[in-house]
Amino acid sequence: MRQITLSNGKTVEVKCLSCAITSGLIEPDGGVVLETEYFHAHQDVAYPIKGLIILASKRHIKCFDELTEEEKIDYIKVLSKIREAQRTVLGIKYVYYFYNEDTTHHFHTWMVPRYKWMYEFGRSVESVRPTLLHARNEVNSKENIQEVMDAIASLTKELNK
Ligand SMILES: [Zn+2]
Repeated sequence: MRQITLSNGKTVEVKCLSCAITSGLIEPDGGVVLETEYFHAHQDVAYPIKGLIILASKRHIKCFDELTEEEKIDYIKVLSKIREAQRTVLGIKYVYYFYNEDTTHHFHTWMVPRYKWMYEFGRSVESVRPTLLHARNEVNSKENIQEVMDAIASLTKELNK
């Protein structure tokens, strides 16, 4: 079991954070952006970056080759649907995708939008962590967080129409 402190200060004990979120035990801030039979998408509000979406499987698996045929098809459909919404609603030109199998959570893909300010941290994978930390530590004003919440609402509306 792991102790996880939520953004509202509450502490919960869960085996797997992804299971807790995809099963609805923990409601992510901003809510569910999109949910299908096999996948669940939400913004990680720990990092106030507009359109930063986490797409998690509902099953507790770790690796790509554990996906069933139905899940594989659903995954690529959902991923590209969210990508399209990021473009049409938020004007996001490029996205980095990050997914690691040695996670303490379960199968989930980060969809990290690229904004102009991020290029001061370089390009490609080495810039991802510094970018996220910069957002969390330096770009976390009330206004910015409100913008992120507004972006979540716009994406949710676009993806569920
Ligand atoms: Zn899990």
